[in-house]
Amino acid sequence: MSVSSEAPAPSGDGSCRGQTSPGPGRKAPGGGRGSAVLCGEWRNREPHANPFFFCSLQDLPVEMLVEIFASLPGTDLPSLAQACTKFHHILHIDSIWRRRCREEYGVRENLQNLETIGISYREVYAKMFPYRHILGLWKLESSYKRLLNVVVDGLCITGWTYRPSLDTHVDGPMPFKPAFRICLTEWKSATVECMEGRHSRPHSCHLQIQKDRLTLQCKKTDHRKDSPTRLRREVGLGLVREDRQQYDCLTYRRLYLPPSHPDDLIRPGLFQCKDDDLGLMIAMLSFHGKYARLTTVTGDLIWTLEIHLMRRIQLRDGEFFRDFDELSRVVQEIPGSRRSRET
Ligand SMILES: [Zn+2]
Repeated sequence: MSVSSEAPAPSGDGSCRGQTSPGPGRKAPGGGRGSAVLCGEWRNREPHANPFFFCSLQDLPVEMLVEIFASLPGTDLPSLAQACTKFHHILHIDSIWRRRCREEYGVRENLQNLETIGISYREVYAKMFPYRHILGLWKLESSYKRLLNVVVDGLCITGWTYRPSLDTHVDGPMPFKPAFRICLTEWKSATVECMEGRHSRPHSCHLQIQKDRLTLQCKKTDHRKDSPTRLRREVGLGLVREDRQQYDCLTYRRLYLPPSHPDDLIRPGLFQCKDDDLGLMIAMLSFHGKYARLTTVTGDLIWTLEIHLMRRIQLRDGEFFRDFDELSRVVQEIPGSRRSRET
């Protein structure tokens, strides 16, 4: 929905009232839908007899406009602010941008220290806007799959990677480590910082997004030397195949979570699981009609388990064999048993 396309041009004195109220016989802007509301006392009269049949969007109370604007995509709001001075002033109300930050970037309510450092949600929205495509789940494209979760942490964007461990129990906490961060607290343009390696952390790196691919390039080599050794100690031979050269340039592919349905007994998504040889890993549960599918998204071996939900196996409960005479009859009918008795 784009309200800006229906908003009138600003008047010279900045007043909005009555600009879009058409007289009798005039066509309402936007085809009479969306931007127009019926005035109370004329509600039950014939539209043609009503000179104020349509009230403009600008006639709504400020509180209502705040609610409407806060529900619109943030990309629509700058053009809406140009419609008139009333909209321009309303769009400086920070609760609108706080909601946009929460719904579009996952920014938690009451961002800490925001007032202390003198920055508004409107500025936070603008700072994060160039990085909005980075947020979400990514899967490393290499011989060893790992998961990258890019989220908003305060005024930083952080990429958390899952690192496998043989020692972690399936009930234990999922070990995540920061792979990179983008700090947005500086007034200058934000830079991407690599958090890998044991020394000289953090250091600058280069991040690029092309469609569904995210590439992280780093010129530091200390984590390239350390990581295979560390990983080998952590998960045995499972990671020795990891290409050392790839540590300078890691390419991830976006991972989409399966859709959820209200009737699902278990909500699909990512789950912890454990393999005796490969340790803790992450698997995705999804439902496909009669089938439930479990696919690993981390580890060096990707396997899929498909369960037919309508083919429940009915196990014999043993009641039949509680009758000793009946059991003897069944045993005697087994060919091998009969032969052994005859000989
Ligand atoms: Zn690095």
